[in-house]
Amino acid sequence: IWTDVLAYVRKNVSDLEYTTWFAPVKPLGVQQGSLLLGVRNSFTKDWFRDHYLELLLAALRSLGAEQPQVEFQVLPAAQDALLLPNDPPPAPEPSAAAPRPKPAPSSPASHPGDNRKTLNPKYTFENFVVGPNNNLAHAAALAVAESPGKAYNPLFIYGDVGLGKTHLMHAVGHYLAERFPDKRIEYVSTETFTNELINAIRDDKTTQFRNRYRSVDLLLVDDIQFLAGKERTQEEFFHTFNALYESNKQIILSSDRPPKDIQTLEGRLRSRFEWGLITDIQSPEYETRVAILKMNAEQGRITIPQEVLELIARQVTSNIRELEGALMRVVAFASLNNVPFSRAVAAKALSNVFAPQEAKVEMTDVLRQVAAQYGTTPDLIRGSGRARDIVVPRQVAQYLIRELTGHSLPEIGQFFGRDHSTVMHAVSKITDQMGKDPELAATVTALRNRIQGKEEEEE
Ligand code: ADP
Ligand code: MG
Repeated sequence: IWTDVLAYVRKNVSDLEYTTWFAPVKPLGVQQGSLLLGVRNSFTKDWFRDHYLELLLAALRSLGAEQPQVEFQVLPAAQDALLLPNDPPPAPEPSAAAPRPKPAPSSPASHPGDNRKTLNPKYTFENFVVGPNNNLAHAAALAVAESPGKAYNPLFIYGDVGLGKTHLMHAVGHYLAERFPDKRIEYVSTETFTNELINAIRDDKTTQFRNRYRSVDLLLVDDIQFLAGKERTQEEFFHTFNALYESNKQIILSSDRPPKDIQTLEGRLRSRFEWGLITDIQSPEYETRVAILKMNAEQGRITIPQEVLELIARQVTSNIRELEGALMRVVAFASLNNVPFSRAVAAKALSNVFAPQEAKVEMTDVLRQVAAQYGTTPDLIRGSGRARDIVVPRQVAQYLIRELTGHSLPEIGQFFGRDHSTVMHAVSKITDQMGKDPELAATVTALRNRIQGKEEEEE
């Protein structure tokens, strides 16, 4: 029965809440309609009373209990060992906690083209925080969701792992499914597509396989880089693509790199991938990271002081999945040790996982911030323009990269397509100018703070 209760709970709370509060609970006495639950400390006990009693009662009712009861008992201290930062988290690792169990994939014969159940319910547009790192991809996805087959076809989204590609694809799927219940939506990873094709060939069912994929209104294919080197799958996908494209059906592809960088991809596929719109997602800036943490905490109905969220956002910089994992770790650590959220607690909870100084600054971060500051683009700054309004930002960018990243002069030179003496010149020029020009000095300081994710963003 506890398992059933948990299953009910899981559907009604966020993963963060589930992992933090429910996974560590020990069922002590479980009978029809009445539960005795062991919790780690009185803080947890109060928390359950205040937040989850109704939910647990509802779960019991849904299982047929007429007068359900729930009692909590604090487990003896021996079992309540202090969770040290280097202990594994109490519940599944963050990554394991992310996706809900998915229903078994429908067999190709059953409901062709309708596996919207494989869309993660949390991956919606509402739950997607938009920042400078992903706003183009977001806008493109929204445009495609609003007029599938007409806006951009295919839409190709690329970016590093854990930055929201899958989330955005699912969001389009949900959007369409909600407005047009009759539309057929197919989400598939490239791996699944490949495996299904192999099975279909083995079982002599390639016709069914084709019909299934060629009869959808929206085809979402995740991690298309895995097509590399798979000739038979590429061949099949080529025909699927053509069939859909010709009948104006929307195709969205994701990859960890742009089409031109996918090795051993047939030229004809590559060029098709480039027919529509190619858009990327970058690592989130500090402000976006804070906003994502805030949204997660709010959804988890957990009140965490802003400064704690900021600390987490400063330590985990590259990947949103890790960012969410770090938040979960902090929450679990605080609740298990019965301490309120504070910067110190967060730092401790994360100390073994993320080295505090690891907030590494990338050259592209600097470039992006400088471009934004001067109202230009990274490409122009790295380009060959010699107008003063591009030369200054270029020198500022080189100066800040030299100061904030560990890169050598030749490396920076290469990044800008120039040699190291140019960079050296830029660095001494800016150093010099800052002494004479307070406005420039203020701009550089503001940029430095922003890049390092310090408070006081605006000058
Ligand atoms: P990818 O497919 O690029 O590897 P995912 O789409 O799986 O990344 O995203 C990883 C995690 O980060 C997911 O839990 C997702 O919900 C979350 N996430 C990514 N981008 C955002 C965003 N902009 N706002 C909120 N959550 C996000
Ligand atoms: Mg993905």
